[in-house]
Amino acid sequence: RKLIIAVDGHSSCGKSTVAKDLAKKINYTYIDSGAMYRVVTLFAMRHNLINGDKLDENKLAHLINDIHISFSYNDELKRHETFMNDELVEDEIRSLEVSNNVSLIATIKFVREKMVALQRKLSEAGAVIMDGRDIGTVVFPNADLKIFMTADVEVRAIRRYKELKEKGDDISLDAIRENVKKRDFIDENRDESPLKKADDAIVLNNSHMTKEEQLDWIVARMAE
Ligand code: C5P
Repeated sequence: RKLIIAVDGHSSCGKSTVAKDLAKKINYTYIDSGAMYRVVTLFAMRHNLINGDKLDENKLAHLINDIHISFSYNDELKRHETFMNDELVEDEIRSLEVSNNVSLIATIKFVREKMVALQRKLSEAGAVIMDGRDIGTVVFPNADLKIFMTADVEVRAIRRYKELKEKGDDISLDAIRENVKKRDFIDENRDESPLKKADDAIVLNNSHMTKEEQLDWIVARMAE
Protein backbone atom coordinates (compact mmCIF):
# COMPACT_ATOMS: atom_id res chain seq x y z
CA ARG A 1 0.00 0.00 0.00
CA LYS A 2 1.19 3.49 -0.77
CA LEU A 3 1.22 5.19 2.62
CA ILE A 4 3.23 8.32 1.97
CA ILE A 5 2.28 10.50 -0.94
CA ALA A 6 4.36 13.55 -1.76
CA VAL A 7 2.87 16.33 -3.86
CA ASP A 8 5.35 18.99 -4.92
CA GLY A 9 5.21 21.71 -7.50
CA HIS A 10 5.01 25.34 -8.45
CA SER A 11 2.84 27.78 -6.55
CA SER A 12 -0.65 28.48 -7.88
CA CYS A 13 -1.00 25.19 -9.69
CA GLY A 14 -3.66 23.75 -7.41
CA LYS A 15 -1.49 21.42 -5.32
CA SER A 16 -3.26 21.92 -2.05
CA THR A 17 -6.75 21.61 -3.53
CA VAL A 18 -5.91 18.28 -5.12
CA ALA A 19 -3.98 17.04 -2.09
CA LYS A 20 -6.89 17.88 0.24
CA ASP A 21 -9.52 16.34 -2.02
CA LEU A 22 -7.47 13.21 -2.46
CA ALA A 23 -6.87 12.87 1.29
CA LYS A 24 -10.60 13.06 1.85
CA LYS A 25 -11.39 10.59 -0.90
CA ILE A 26 -8.96 7.90 0.25
CA ASN A 27 -9.11 8.76 3.96
CA TYR A 28 -5.50 9.85 4.45
CA THR A 29 -4.21 12.66 6.64
CA TYR A 30 -3.47 15.84 4.72
CA ILE A 31 -0.43 17.84 5.82
CA ASP A 32 0.21 21.32 4.48
CA SER A 33 3.95 21.95 4.72
CA GLY A 34 3.65 25.46 3.28
CA ALA A 35 1.44 26.43 6.24
CA MET A 36 4.36 25.69 8.56
CA TYR A 37 6.66 28.12 6.77
CA ARG A 38 3.82 30.63 6.85
CA VAL A 39 3.46 30.25 10.64
CA VAL A 40 7.16 30.87 11.21
CA THR A 41 6.85 33.92 8.98
CA LEU A 42 3.89 35.27 10.93
CA PHE A 43 5.75 34.68 14.18
CA ALA A 44 8.80 36.54 12.85
CA MET A 45 6.60 39.43 11.72
CA ARG A 46 4.86 39.69 15.07
CA HIS A 47 8.23 39.80 16.81
CA ASN A 48 9.45 42.49 14.41
CA LEU A 49 12.23 40.28 13.12
CA ILE A 50 11.59 41.24 9.50
CA ASN A 51 12.58 44.63 8.19
CA GLY A 52 12.12 45.04 4.45
CA ASP A 53 14.00 42.08 3.02
CA LYS A 54 16.18 41.70 6.12
CA LEU A 55 15.60 39.09 8.77
CA ASP A 56 17.09 39.05 12.27
CA GLU A 57 18.29 35.46 12.02
CA ASN A 58 19.91 35.40 15.43
CA LYS A 59 16.74 36.35 17.22
CA LEU A 60 14.73 33.90 15.18
CA ALA A 61 17.22 31.16 16.04
CA HIS A 62 16.67 31.94 19.72
CA LEU A 63 12.92 32.07 19.45
CA ILE A 64 12.19 29.27 17.03
CA ASN A 65 11.72 26.67 19.73
CA ASP A 66 8.92 28.81 21.17
CA ILE A 67 6.84 28.26 18.06
CA HIS A 68 4.46 25.38 18.39
CA ILE A 69 2.64 24.53 15.16
CA SER A 70 -0.41 22.32 15.04
CA PHE A 71 -3.29 21.49 12.73
CA SER A 72 -6.83 20.35 13.06
CA TYR A 73 -9.81 19.81 10.83
CA ASN A 74 -12.81 22.03 11.49
CA ASP A 75 -15.88 19.88 10.81
CA GLU A 76 -18.29 22.77 10.91
CA LEU A 77 -16.39 24.94 8.43
CA LYS A 78 -15.10 21.91 6.55
CA ARG A 79 -11.59 23.21 6.43
CA HIS A 80 -8.12 22.41 7.65
CA GLU A 81 -6.93 24.92 10.21
CA THR A 82 -3.48 25.94 11.35
CA PHE A 83 -2.56 26.95 14.90
CA MET A 84 0.41 28.87 16.23
CA ASN A 85 0.86 28.24 19.95
CA ASP A 86 -2.81 27.20 20.06
CA GLU A 87 -4.01 30.40 18.42
CA LEU A 88 -6.03 29.94 15.23
CA VAL A 89 -4.01 31.67 12.51
CA GLU A 90 -5.42 30.01 9.39
CA ASP A 91 -6.59 33.24 7.76
CA GLU A 92 -3.70 35.38 8.89
CA ILE A 93 -1.05 33.09 7.40
CA ARG A 94 -2.72 33.41 3.97
CA SER A 95 -2.52 37.21 3.97
CA LEU A 96 -0.56 39.07 1.32
CA GLU A 97 1.93 40.31 3.93
CA VAL A 98 2.80 36.79 5.01
CA SER A 99 2.91 35.61 1.39
CA ASN A 100 5.36 38.37 0.57
CA ASN A 101 7.72 37.43 3.41
CA VAL A 102 7.51 33.66 3.41
CA SER A 103 10.21 32.96 0.82
CA LEU A 104 12.69 34.94 2.93
CA ILE A 105 11.96 32.69 5.91
CA ALA A 106 11.96 29.55 3.75
CA THR A 107 15.59 30.12 2.71
CA ILE A 108 16.87 29.89 6.29
CA LYS A 109 18.60 26.58 6.88
CA PHE A 110 17.69 26.09 10.55
CA VAL A 111 14.07 26.90 9.76
CA ARG A 112 13.98 24.25 7.04
CA GLU A 113 15.63 21.66 9.30
CA LYS A 114 13.10 22.33 12.01
CA MET A 115 10.15 22.14 9.58
CA VAL A 116 11.41 18.95 7.98
CA ALA A 117 11.74 17.32 11.40
CA LEU A 118 8.20 18.35 12.27
CA GLN A 119 6.89 17.12 8.90
CA ARG A 120 8.44 13.71 9.49
CA LYS A 121 7.11 13.55 13.02
CA LEU A 122 3.56 14.40 11.97
CA SER A 123 3.68 11.61 9.41
CA GLU A 124 4.61 8.88 11.83
CA ALA A 125 0.96 8.18 12.41
CA GLY A 126 0.46 6.50 9.06
CA ALA A 127 -1.16 7.29 5.75
CA VAL A 128 -0.43 10.85 4.71
CA ILE A 129 -0.51 13.16 1.77
CA MET A 130 1.85 16.09 2.15
CA ASP A 131 2.16 18.98 -0.26
CA GLY A 132 5.04 21.39 -0.62
CA ARG A 133 8.23 21.96 -2.59
CA ASP A 134 10.77 19.50 -1.22
CA ILE A 135 8.61 16.65 0.06
CA GLY A 136 9.71 14.08 -2.51
CA THR A 137 13.33 15.19 -2.44
CA VAL A 138 14.17 16.07 1.16
CA VAL A 139 11.37 15.21 3.56
CA PHE A 140 10.45 11.79 2.20
CA PRO A 141 12.97 10.65 -0.39
CA ASN A 142 11.40 7.20 0.02
CA ALA A 143 7.80 8.33 -0.42
CA ASP A 144 5.60 5.64 -1.95
CA LEU A 145 4.27 7.97 -4.60
CA LYS A 146 5.72 11.29 -5.73
CA ILE A 147 3.74 13.69 -7.81
CA PHE A 148 5.16 16.84 -9.31
CA MET A 149 2.36 19.19 -10.23
CA THR A 150 2.56 21.92 -12.74
CA ALA A 151 0.38 23.90 -15.11
CA ASP A 152 1.15 26.19 -18.01
CA VAL A 153 2.09 29.74 -17.10
CA GLU A 154 -0.94 31.18 -18.87
CA VAL A 155 -3.31 28.82 -17.07
CA ARG A 156 -1.83 29.61 -13.67
CA ALA A 157 -1.90 33.33 -14.38
CA ILE A 158 -5.59 33.16 -15.30
CA ARG A 159 -6.43 31.11 -12.19
CA ARG A 160 -4.61 33.58 -9.96
CA TYR A 161 -6.25 36.49 -11.76
CA LYS A 162 -9.71 35.07 -11.06
CA GLU A 163 -8.84 34.41 -7.43
CA LEU A 164 -7.62 37.96 -6.89
CA LYS A 165 -10.58 39.44 -8.76
CA GLU A 166 -12.91 37.54 -6.46
CA LYS A 167 -11.08 39.06 -3.50
CA GLY A 168 -11.65 42.47 -5.04
CA ASP A 169 -8.03 43.16 -6.01
CA ASP A 170 -7.62 45.35 -9.06
CA ILE A 171 -4.68 43.93 -10.96
CA SER A 172 -4.12 43.21 -14.64
CA LEU A 173 -3.61 39.77 -16.14
CA ASP A 174 -0.37 41.03 -17.70
CA ALA A 175 1.03 41.98 -14.30
CA ILE A 176 0.08 38.61 -12.84
CA ARG A 177 1.57 36.72 -15.78
CA GLU A 178 4.84 38.58 -15.28
CA ASN A 179 4.77 37.77 -11.57
CA VAL A 180 4.15 34.06 -12.21
CA LYS A 181 7.04 33.97 -14.70
CA LYS A 182 9.33 35.79 -12.32
CA ARG A 183 8.53 33.46 -9.45
CA ASP A 184 9.07 30.43 -11.68
CA PHE A 185 12.43 31.79 -12.68
CA ILE A 186 13.45 32.34 -9.05
CA ASP A 187 12.11 28.92 -8.03
CA GLU A 188 13.92 27.13 -10.80
CA ASN A 189 17.22 28.98 -10.77
CA ARG A 190 18.02 29.95 -7.22
CA ASP A 191 20.52 27.56 -5.71
CA GLU A 192 18.83 27.48 -2.35
CA SER A 193 15.40 27.08 -3.90
CA PRO A 194 13.57 24.18 -2.28
CA LEU A 195 11.62 23.35 -5.43
CA LYS A 196 13.13 20.45 -7.27
CA LYS A 197 11.51 17.57 -9.04
CA ALA A 198 12.58 14.22 -7.62
CA ASP A 199 13.97 11.90 -10.30
CA ASP A 200 11.27 9.36 -9.55
CA ALA A 201 8.38 11.86 -9.35
CA ILE A 202 5.67 11.65 -11.97
CA VAL A 203 4.59 14.91 -13.55
CA LEU A 204 0.97 15.95 -13.45
CA ASN A 205 0.34 18.90 -15.75
CA ASN A 206 -3.21 19.86 -14.91
CA SER A 207 -3.58 22.76 -17.36
CA HIS A 208 -6.46 21.11 -19.12
CA MET A 209 -7.81 18.80 -16.45
CA THR A 210 -10.80 19.09 -14.15
CA LYS A 211 -10.41 18.38 -10.42
CA GLU A 212 -12.12 15.01 -10.89
CA GLU A 213 -9.76 14.05 -13.71
CA GLN A 214 -6.78 14.93 -11.54
CA LEU A 215 -8.06 12.81 -8.66
CA ASP A 216 -8.75 9.87 -10.97
CA TRP A 217 -5.29 10.23 -12.44
CA ILE A 218 -3.64 10.06 -9.02
CA VAL A 219 -5.80 7.19 -7.84
CA ALA A 220 -4.77 5.28 -10.97
CA ARG A 221 -1.09 5.98 -10.19
CA MET A 222 -1.66 4.66 -6.67
CA ALA A 223 -2.92 1.39 -8.03
CA GLU A 224 0.15 0.86 -10.24
O1 C5P B 1 2.46 26.16 -0.47
P1 C5P B 1 2.48 27.58 -0.01
O2 C5P B 1 2.35 28.58 -1.11
O3 C5P B 1 1.53 27.85 1.11
O4 C5P B 1 3.93 27.77 0.60
C1 C5P B 1 4.34 29.01 1.05
C2 C5P B 1 5.82 29.17 0.87
O5 C5P B 1 6.54 28.31 1.75
C3 C5P B 1 6.36 28.83 -0.52
O6 C5P B 1 6.32 29.94 -1.38
C4 C5P B 1 7.79 28.44 -0.24
O7 C5P B 1 8.60 29.58 -0.15
C5 C5P B 1 7.71 27.84 1.14
N1 C5P B 1 7.70 26.37 1.17
C6 C5P B 1 8.89 25.71 1.19
N2 C5P B 1 8.93 24.35 1.30
C7 C5P B 1 7.78 23.65 1.39
C8 C5P B 1 6.53 24.31 1.36
C9 C5P B 1 6.53 25.68 1.24
O8 C5P B 1 9.94 26.34 1.10
N3 C5P B 1 7.83 22.32 1.52
